[in-house]
Amino acid sequence: MLTCGKCDEIDNKIARHSRLLSLVTDKIARDGIADLIEEMTTAKAALHPNQRRSKLALERANRR
Ligand SMILES: [Zn+2]
Repeated sequence: MLTCGKCDEIDNKIARHSRLLSLVTDKIARDGIADLIEEMTTAKAALHPNQRRSKLALERANRR
């Protein structure tokens, strides 16, 4: 899979937040972190419109 500096940056952020998600037990905090991860995933997909996007991620993004 192709990567670039921006993707690496977002990947790092997603990884950090995913780790956070595994540590946090508060539901509201978890929801907030999950939202952020979703936003970052969408932002990353938008960087490479030609690459196949996750249909589920798009549906989630559109639902909000
Ligand atoms: Zn990239």
